[in-house]
Amino acid sequence: MYSKPIQNLIKAFSRLPSVGHRTAERFVFYLLKSGKKDVAELTIALKELIENIKSCEVCWDFADASPCNFCSDTRRDHKVICVVSQPQDKETIEKTKEFLGVYHILRGTLKSDDENIAKFLKINELMARLQKNVVDEVILALNPDISGETTMMYLERQIKKLKPEIRVTRLARGLPMGSDLQYADEITLSSALKNRTSNK
Ligand SMILES: [Zn+2]
Repeated sequence: MYSKPIQNLIKAFSRLPSVGHRTAERFVFYLLKSGKKDVAELTIALKELIENIKSCEVCWDFADASPCNFCSDTRRDHKVICVVSQPQDKETIEKTKEFLGVYHILRGTLKSDDENIAKFLKINELMARLQKNVVDEVILALNPDISGETTMMYLERQIKKLKPEIRVTRLARGLPMGSDLQYADEITLSSALKNRTSNK
């Protein structure tokens, strides 16, 4: 049995996505072997993350300030909101330099069409944002997989109920079904944005 501090850190690392018990063990012994400098660097980085990064209460991205740089940028078009599942998807879209509107980060997707799960995502916050502001278009840029599809259908219905005048569009086909936005190449994503479609 490992000593308590070792066990605790293995447990903490095991909670990270795609890190199993074995990998967590490897991380801990790597740190123990690498000495104080690496551990100190990691400690400082984690401390800075906790102390300096907050949630933007407009778009729900993680940022240095709330509202974040994007939400307070008057050069961007605040009447067009691109809804993504994760902060990393926003980074991917930004790289295309094709989109000049603002974002909304849901922080996940619906696994089923269930109102109870919906409240764990930033869906109510999106609806409140649409209610409060003048918005012409909402682009649903979620992954073309089952849970992305379920979420987009749910959002379309909710937006239609709330403000039928808002144009709801989706990224054009070209993104393979079941793929992950983060791994789409910039040319594919850029053309999917340009050729986005509306069901109306
Ligand atoms: Zn923001």
